[in-house]
Amino acid sequence: MSKVKYYYDPDTLSYRKIEPRKSRRYRNIALFFLGSFLFGFLGLILLLNTNLVNTPRELSLAREVKNYELQFELLGKKMEQIENVLANIEDRDNNIYRLYFEANPIPEEQRRAGFGGVNRYKALEGFNNSEMIISTTKRLDIIQKQMVIQSKSLDEITKLAEEKEKLLAAIPAIQPIKNEDLARMASGYGWRSDPFTKARKMHWGMDFTSPKGTPIYASGDGTVIRADNNASGYGKHIRIDHGYGYMSLYGHLSQYNVKARQKVKRGDLIGFVGSTGRSEAPHLHYEVWKDDERINPINFYYGSLTAEEFENMLKYATQENQSLD
Ligand SMILES: [Zn+2]
Repeated sequence: MSKVKYYYDPDTLSYRKIEPRKSRRYRNIALFFLGSFLFGFLGLILLLNTNLVNTPRELSLAREVKNYELQFELLGKKMEQIENVLANIEDRDNNIYRLYFEANPIPEEQRRAGFGGVNRYKALEGFNNSEMIISTTKRLDIIQKQMVIQSKSLDEITKLAEEKEKLLAAIPAIQPIKNEDLARMASGYGWRSDPFTKARKMHWGMDFTSPKGTPIYASGDGTVIRADNNASGYGKHIRIDHGYGYMSLYGHLSQYNVKARQKVKRGDLIGFVGSTGRSEAPHLHYEVWKDDERINPINFYYGSLTAEEFENMLKYATQENQSLD
């Protein structure tokens, strides 16, 4: 029941009943619904802004973000594997390759150094996942740097290996006379009795006894610096400069097969056994020099002799007998 309302009519000086008009009633109903609708709508907006309810689009975006996070985590695991492999390569690089070629190891700090100075990651700051993205980017930057350093190190090692190969080809490392041509190793490096004076004297090389005319071979790559008869005692002799401070000398030759300034390879025929100069019988007197000092040639026959042959030679070479000079 709606309340009955009255109004004062000054013409009749009495209160009269207000008859509610139909149109007004409808208007009130419409206003009520409009008000409810507006109120509900405002409420809904408030509710959405407080994140208590997600729209389908938000839900799908959230799922996508979760998926990205998962993928990031998987990439992180793969990165860890790469880091481990790289660490292993670096380890071998420092402890085997660089060590073998006598290069200093590259310190850990240098290999793993990040980037200092300006903040390279500023653009990545301020997002929900910033921390994860920045740390991943940092790791990738470090891996990239490690790779560059490793690659440079391998370049250096390649160069050193080439040098070492040249060095190994150069140093006097084979016996200058073939085993089958050898009558016997007459005398080694050390104190020997002089064949002429019989006095005890240092013998600075090795004497290989062979018939006159036996071929003599260069014991390493190098350049012939002398092939003449102008050094006292050695008779007709050849000197080969091998570089790296090494020189080999071949004395008492009967004939030369090379000239001064000629380049030779290890194993090239350079001359023939004889007995020129201060020599008692046909033989090759062979010396190895390092940094202007004569050293024991027996330490240089890598690989060209069998273990047995080497032992035999060692036995002869260390016997204190008479040298042939
Ligand atoms: Zn000698």
